[in-house]
Amino acid sequence: MNPVLVLGGGPAGLSAAGELASLGAPTILVEREGYLGGNPKRWHYSLLAPDLRPTEEVMDPLLGKIEGNSRIELRLSTTLAKAEPVEKGYRVTLRSAGALEERDVSSVIVATGFDHFDSRRKFEYGYGRYPDVLDFKEIEIMLHEDRVLRPSDGKPPKRMAWILCVGSRDVQVGNPWCCRMGCVVSIKQAVEVRRKHPEIDAYVYYMDIRTYGLWEDLYWKSMQEYGVKFVRGRIGQITLAEGGSRLMATGEDTILSRPTEVPFDMIILASGMEPSAGTKEVATLFGLSVGPEGFLTPRISDLNPVDSGVPGLFFAGAATGPKAIPDAITEGMGAALRAFQYARD
Ligand code: SF4
Repeated sequence: MNPVLVLGGGPAGLSAAGELASLGAPTILVEREGYLGGNPKRWHYSLLAPDLRPTEEVMDPLLGKIEGNSRIELRLSTTLAKAEPVEKGYRVTLRSAGALEERDVSSVIVATGFDHFDSRRKFEYGYGRYPDVLDFKEIEIMLHEDRVLRPSDGKPPKRMAWILCVGSRDVQVGNPWCCRMGCVVSIKQAVEVRRKHPEIDAYVYYMDIRTYGLWEDLYWKSMQEYGVKFVRGRIGQITLAEGGSRLMATGEDTILSRPTEVPFDMIILASGMEPSAGTKEVATLFGLSVGPEGFLTPRISDLNPVDSGVPGLFFAGAATGPKAIPDAITEGMGAALRAFQYARD
């Protein structure tokens, strides 16, 4: 049996490759970066929502199934340059350090994940111009290192705000979809801050809170146990205040129907999810249709979200749309089973 090619070394790809190896299938795991772990590793995610478990508790078992596994050929800093269908499977060309290599594979699993929205596109929030306006990635690194300090002067903040739906549910930037994760991750971050630094006030500005299923529990706990304050409203802009030493968040409180203007020491933007560069490349290489959002579209998303509709090609994780890590891992397993079945039949 020719190997199965897994594209992407994030949670979905790791799950798929580990599952294939446990089924006895030879597997090539290709990752464009020089390390495994995807966005959780890249951005040093701290605790995972909603149960505040260390990210390593989820990622390490996935990584443990890959490293040193004789059934998995690990190809880091490698991309897919070309793919042609053959009688059964694909002839693919891999590019690594400028060198090209042709391989025959029985099937392909696309687990190319997502990129965080570039918050500089919301110019009015000053990300990239004001050092104390951060986004998800930077606050996760601070929480991971237990070092919540203002980048501008290295001092601890007294009052922090989170602004939800940045680059999501926003037709002006072309992203009308909900990122599914921004509410619960922001709440988790605010809880982490309050747990370690109860002297810091934490405010969350929201349009509406979307904490699905059991995640709702963290929302209530954040208010009742940790004193996180929620303001329903839209922040229209962030400017410098008090001689440039603080940030002013200006907008509308939509419950009171009144303008609001509040100074903060740090503001976190809940940057949404977009199709990754790898997802876009794969769509072009395989001639796949994408939805209006740019994510890959499964043949029948509700019945079989891992089936691309193209023989021997399967999807897993956030390549098809915003996903939580547990969903990505589950889809990785599902795609592995379908790819194994396809290769064996
Ligand atoms: S999950 Fe929350 S932050 Fe993300 S787009 Fe949906 S409502 Fe906004």
